[in-house]
Amino acid sequence: MSHTLAIIKPDAVESGNAGKILAHLETAGFAIRALRLTTLNQAQAGAFYAVHQGRPFYDELVEFMTSGPVVPLVLEADDAVAKLRETIGATDPAEAAAGTVRKLYAESKGRNAIHASDSDANAETEIAFFFSTHERLGL
Ligand code: ATP
Ligand code: MG
Repeated sequence: MSHTLAIIKPDAVESGNAGKILAHLETAGFAIRALRLTTLNQAQAGAFYAVHQGRPFYDELVEFMTSGPVVPLVLEADDAVAKLRETIGATDPAEAAAGTVRKLYAESKGRNAIHASDSDANAETEIAFFFSTHERLGL
């Protein structure tokens, strides 16, 4: 079993789809191993997406990610990183496969309902960004 980080983004929490997305992830075979609700400030969102600093959409991304509460969660499954990327679908919901989280719940490429780690190394860093030592030791 391996772990990955998901974040239910502000658009999906605001529209009341957080519970449906959690159910979708559980039905897809993930176990929820840690979960919080938090609102990111500019410094936190900027640091989380630091890899995108300088890209044309960076300011918009940080503004969006600070616009309301988010739900970070640690998911466990066999090959969790790849499995979650497949379950959420393409970044742009217009290109996401039928039945994926983004096809079902995302509004646009910017407001796209959910984040997922893109590698095992980034999953470890991103889990540590949101969850404390005592939570990570329970994984
Ligand atoms: P995430 O990292 O949130 O899981 P992703 O890995 O599918 O998404 P990235 O390329 O890492 O996509 O981009 C991070 C986020 O930045 C995207 O989820 C999206 O919200 C935003 N984004 C990326 N490209 C664009 C764009 N061209 N226009 C607007 N927003 C964008
Ligand atoms: Mg990404």
